[in-house]
Amino acid sequence: WLAHYPEEVPRTLTYPSMPVQEYLTKAYEDFPQKTAIHFLGRELSYEELYESAMKMANYLQKLGIQKGDRVSIMLPNCPQAVISFYGILYAGGVVVMTNPLYTEREISYQMKDSGAKAIIALDILFPRINKVIKETEIENVIVTGIKDYLTFPKNLVYPFIQKKQYGMTVKVEHRGINHLFTEIMKTASPQITKPPFDFDEDLALLQYTGGTTGSPKGVMLTHRNLISNATMCDAWLYKSTRGEETIMGIIPLFHVYGLTTVLILSVMQGNKMVLLPKFDPEQALKTINKQKPTLFPGAPTLYIGLLNHPDIQKYDLSSIEACLSGSAPLPTEVQEKFERITGGKLVEGYGLTETSPVSHSNLVWGDRTKGSIGMPYPDTDCEIFLPGTTDPVPNGQIGEIAIKGPQVMKGYWNRPDATAATIVDGWLLTGDLGYMNDEGQFFIVDRKKDMIIAGGFNIYPREIEEVLYEHEAIQECVVAGIPDPYRGETVKAYIVLKEGYTVTEEQLDKHCRENLAAFKVPRIYEFRNELPKTAVGKILRRSLVDEEIAKRDEAIP
Ligand code: AMP
Repeated sequence: WLAHYPEEVPRTLTYPSMPVQEYLTKAYEDFPQKTAIHFLGRELSYEELYESAMKMANYLQKLGIQKGDRVSIMLPNCPQAVISFYGILYAGGVVVMTNPLYTEREISYQMKDSGAKAIIALDILFPRINKVIKETEIENVIVTGIKDYLTFPKNLVYPFIQKKQYGMTVKVEHRGINHLFTEIMKTASPQITKPPFDFDEDLALLQYTGGTTGSPKGVMLTHRNLISNATMCDAWLYKSTRGEETIMGIIPLFHVYGLTTVLILSVMQGNKMVLLPKFDPEQALKTINKQKPTLFPGAPTLYIGLLNHPDIQKYDLSSIEACLSGSAPLPTEVQEKFERITGGKLVEGYGLTETSPVSHSNLVWGDRTKGSIGMPYPDTDCEIFLPGTTDPVPNGQIGEIAIKGPQVMKGYWNRPDATAATIVDGWLLTGDLGYMNDEGQFFIVDRKKDMIIAGGFNIYPREIEEVLYEHEAIQECVVAGIPDPYRGETVKAYIVLKEGYTVTEEQLDKHCRENLAAFKVPRIYEFRNELPKTAVGKILRRSLVDEEIAKRDEAIP
């Protein structure tokens, strides 16, 4: 593929060997008065963002956070998430991003595994955290509400909206373990003790992902990993004009995709990020219409959601110049329709948490190949190996995609065996199957691992099966991702009951909802007398999916 490498982008880039948070210091020095964040009508300048992050760092250091200590952020997209991210880094800590949808069980697992000492969380999530806190090493909880960063009179109305949406408002009091974000912003001083720094070795982020084994693992991403990937994305994709662009931040910042392409990249270039706390197509269209973003990273379901809005034509989306679609295959008709409506370019990319996350994408400003994930980024190498080996296969032949480059993780947190199985001879084995054509373009064919991607969320069947198996009525079960025209895949559970037991779908749904985030809960249940198995008794998940595909194909006239 090197022979086809695009002339427009340098093959090698230089990466400043500084901590990620120094990008914020630089943006503040260059553009103190420029808007760094737009959030539901509230704007924060780079000066305000920088000072707020420094105050958070000061406070964390006073709470005893030292270099290398893990601090979790459990927030939706909002200014506090950005302030906390940079604040933790200024303090010398390592950020652990926690999905706000996590249940008590999932929070407990992640906090115990990461050994997080503190958590910065949304007020309505506090009761969930409080229930499991004794099982963890968390010493301090800092809470904040969406309304804390809303302007008058939205801040007054918001508690009622929250009550309607979530069935609760939360009054948080200062009780020893709790610290109020707003108090910190009022009282802390923006002074810190600068921790020592090692560009290649120091972790910036511990990002949890399921990988192949089902139990989530912490991916160790260093400052070097994140800086190199953000620099690559900008050179290949955004080509942003420093201080001039506006980046749409709808994809979650608690996933490394949003973290790199919105939270870090925007600050790296002194640009403006427009944050929305959740994906609501109408609100997103209105915001694009008003805020005029130029860059808009997303996922196929997000673009489909916007395109399906009946009034899309009413909104002016013409500011959009470049969109990157990642995390799942991008249907061609979605790409073409979105480009027609916006006049901008929507290109498909690829990567995984372990690559910080982008390793490949198509060119925005040059040739693109339909259905392809494009080419490897600058300084990134890619090979297709015969699965289970590090032997390259010929062009056109399907094998496992392997990646080498400065964005490849340091390893899995506390799991040397999993690290050794995943990084072999310096190559990251992705678990994805694909091939390269004669023009050096790469294509994804399937996932070696059984991960389900439903509505842009990654779901690991084994985790759901483990919860199902805890139900007394279940003898055997298997969870699979079956094709779904809107969500890409949908979670389906196949169940065999123990003799003499009965259970309803509603009862299983309740059991799953108590133990799993809502996006992982099966949408469909099927009760069977037995499940297809291999000779050694391994349940054949794939053959169940094939049955579904065959049923769907039969239904098409
Ligand atoms: P995550 O670690 O959550 O970022 O998930 C990474 C996985 O998402 C990859 O290993 C792929 O299986 C899948 N993925 C990412 N981008 C694409 C794409 N463009 N097409 C198909 N699958 C993708």
